Amino acid sequence: MARIPFVAANWKMFKTRAEARAFTDAFKKSWTNDGRVKAAICPSYTAIATVAEEIKGTGIHLGAQNIHWEAQGAFTGECSIGQLKEAGCDHAIVGHSERRKIFKETDADINKKVKACLKEGIVPIFCVGETLEEREGGKTQSVIMGQLAAGLADVSSSDAVKVVVAYEPVWAIGTGKTASPEQAQEVHAFIRAWLAEAFGTEVSEKMIIQYGGSVKPDNTEAIMKGKDVDGALIGGAALDPAGFAAIAAAAAKAKS
Ligand code: PEP
Repeated sequence: MARIPFVAANWKMFKTRAEARAFTDAFKKSWTNDGRVKAAICPSYTAIATVAEEIKGTGIHLGAQNIHWEAQGAFTGECSIGQLKEAGCDHAIVGHSERRKIFKETDADINKKVKACLKEGIVPIFCVGETLEEREGGKTQSVIMGQLAAGLADVSSSDAVKVVVAYEPVWAIGTGKTASPEQAQEVHAFIRAWLAEAFGTEVSEKMIIQYGGSVKPDNTEAIMKGKDVDGALIGGAALDPAGFAAIAAAAAKAKS
């Protein structure tokens, strides 16, 4: 079964509700829900309900950039999956490197978040990736392996198949430095082999592995040609509706 490429826009802490509406208005005009590519938008919490309203009936998915693993409680500043589902989310980014680094999220926190998403029926976009220092020290595979093993601990094969893994080399995020198509494919193949070992080939062959790190309209097609590269998680270039639409189109083209 062919995997449908999946592109997700991570807006980070950008866009007011008015700007989010302007984006979706423009993006919808170039979006055809023809099943060749899946797209999701992950806005700030404040714009989630606005985007939900805007994309109703379009087939575009909606994701949170972060979730808390508990259903409710005294967790000032956090949002539960239930609250986010009610607002329209069906996906959530988990373990983004900015959350790992700036907000000190641990592998154990990320594992709780992945499991909570699966329990509550939303798709975790689970991020892994090495720093430049780790890459230059020849540690890419061991770092990725550690993040996969910790983040997906106690996840069953029937749940693992629903997880989207995003390989995001930290040195390529927001830096303009993209992994070459060969570098990306090499790590994606390694991730898929690890997933096969952990969950079986039938599961690993169905799992979506996105690449993230300075993806732009003009480099998407080459990166997506990698046989284990199934989509992209995009920051900067997905703030522009034309850019995100061009990336979605290039992803569909690369896999057709
Ligand atoms: C990201 O934040 O997930 C990301 C990949 O950002 P950028 O595309 O800007 O490198």
